[in-house]
Order: sequence, then structure tokens, then C-alpha cells
Amino acid sequence: MNILEIIYPKTCGMCEDISKSYLCGKCKLKLKEVLKLNTVVYKNKYFDSHTYLFKYEEKIRDKLLKYKFRDYSYLYKFFSEIIINNCNLQNNYDIILPVPIHKKRKQMRGYNQSELIAKEIAKNMNMEYSNRVLIKMVNTVPQSSLNQTQRMSNVMGIYKVINSQIIDQKRILLIDDIFTTGSTVNECAKILKQNGAKTIDVLTIAKD
Ligand SMILES: [Zn+2]
Repeated sequence: MNILEIIYPKTCGMCEDISKSYLCGKCKLKLKEVLKLNTVVYKNKYFDSHTYLFKYEEKIRDKLLKYKFRDYSYLYKFFSEIIINNCNLQNNYDIILPVPIHKKRKQMRGYNQSELIAKEIAKNMNMEYSNRVLIKMVNTVPQSSLNQTQRMSNVMGIYKVINSQIIDQKRILLIDDIFTTGSTVNECAKILKQNGAKTIDVLTIAKD
């Protein structure tokens, strides 16, 4: 144990007890019961597949809401650990990208929840990562406040690819927190493919 771990010991993201990892043994068993790890392959979308770990309900929903809206930014370690331990990511992707939020939103929140997770996974699995490819240009109203049709038009044309040479002919893993209608990731995937990406697989913590 290093000095930092003595001053700031790891805590379980679920029960908040001090623990050896970000998910304690007890909560690991409980989470196993609700783990819904599933991959859906799409033929009619710009992204090729979507993998999620949980249904967006109960404790996972509470944790994601805390993580996103109540400054529990440290929970990225907890979510990343669950992804790393359950998903087979090694060697399947050339680069990992987060779904971006607008810079003003990031300034207000202090972080982009998908960026923290994407970066942590990349670090742990020795994968390439960039938050300098996909940019959100318009500070839109939150998707959660809209219906399906509104969600599609709300995200249309609001993303931009910069540094497209980084993704040329690459297999991309695109990270977001929640998948509802898929409008956001589909719009991101569209612009990524237009800029040369070979494949885009989406990974989210939860599916609503
Ligand atoms: Zn726990």
C-alpha cells in the first residue's frame, strides 16, 4: 500500500466501505445478479453494435445519476473496473473515444462522465484514447428531457470531427454512460464514419 492509499483509501463505489478495489466482494456478488451484459448488432445504424452491462434501473440508475449530476466524479473508477472485469476489449479496437459534452457543460460540471471512464479503461488496458477527435459544437438541452423524435433532431449535425487522421480506417470503441434511443451515439457514429472510421462499437454502462 502506498502513502496515497493510506490517506485516501479505495472505497467500494456501491456501498462506500473501504475496500481493496472499487467494488467490494459483497457488492460484486449483488451486482452479478443484476448484470445483463449484452451485445446487440445493428444493420440499420451508423454504429455496428451496442454493448451494455446493466438495465437503467434501481441501484445502477441511482449511481449513474449521482455520478453525472451530483459531483460523484470519483465513481468513474468503480464503473471502469466493472467494464474491465466483464468486457473483452483487448485487441478488438484501435482507439477508444468518449461521447463528448459541450465545453460549457464540462466547465459547469467539472468533468465529462464518459471521458473519465473511457480514459481509465484505455489506461488500464493499454489502449489508445483521444478526447481530441469528436467535439460537440452546440450546447443542446439534455436528451433526457425530450421524446424520441425530439431526441433525433436535438443531436442532428451538432458533432464535429477534428484530427480525422487519428481515426482513419480505425476500429473505434465509443463510450457513453446511458443508451436510450441511441440517437446520440448514432449521430456521433455517422460523423466518425464520414471521417474515415472503419467500425464503431458502442459501449454504455446501462440501457434504458
Ligand atoms: Zn461494496
